Amino acid sequence: MDAADMGADLERVLITEDELQAKIRELAGKIDADYAGRDLLIVGVLKGAVMVMADLARALHIPVQMDWMAVSSYGAGTKTSGVVRVLKDLDTDIAGRHVLVVEDIIDSGLTLSWLVHNLRSREPASVEICAALRKPDAIKVPIDVKYVGFDIPNEFVIGYGLDYAERYRNLPFIGTLAPHVYGGGA
Ligand code: 5GP
Ligand code: MG
Ligand code: MG
Repeated sequence: MDAADMGADLERVLITEDELQAKIRELAGKIDADYAGRDLLIVGVLKGAVMVMADLARALHIPVQMDWMAVSSYGAGTKTSGVVRVLKDLDTDIAGRHVLVVEDIIDSGLTLSWLVHNLRSREPASVEICAALRKPDAIKVPIDVKYVGFDIPNEFVIGYGLDYAERYRNLPFIGTLAPHVYGGGA
């Protein structure tokens, strides 16, 4: 799927595919250096982190293991519910492991803050966060993110794994939606 397939639904492209891919390579270089010689488990948070996990994992030179969690904090719309539910837990026992949580976006930070707390209780060797996007103006809880792709304005974005009512995840770029998409109710 690309911009042309969105017709009038796309308002504007915020981050291009090339910019995303270059940033993922840059982050992978840092992670390679930081975790060299260590045994790393990267944990993708479904479903939004699927694209960044797939690209990041392939850009890394160090061998990693991959696992997934699914948590839910949003309904079908664009507002946070403030409630985190675990829909799918890890398959891996992370006690003593180095864990890197890979996320699509940090908005309020509530989901990740809850998740990191949850993972730390399992006594891993370390837990760090890598997020493709972050909205500094939307943060509600302080959160220590080691690797961030882009800081973006406090707007609802779609693409590169991020959805609106489960649509637009397979766009290769980050964009904003035209107001008529929300107005029409998806
Ligand atoms: P947070 O708990 O930091 O507010 O965000 C939790 C989740 O909400 C993110 O992992 C993401 O799935 C979703 N989310 C937050 N902001 C946006 C956005 O601008 N667009 C989309 N599509 N999802 C978002
Ligand atoms: Mg997410
Ligand atoms: Mg969503």
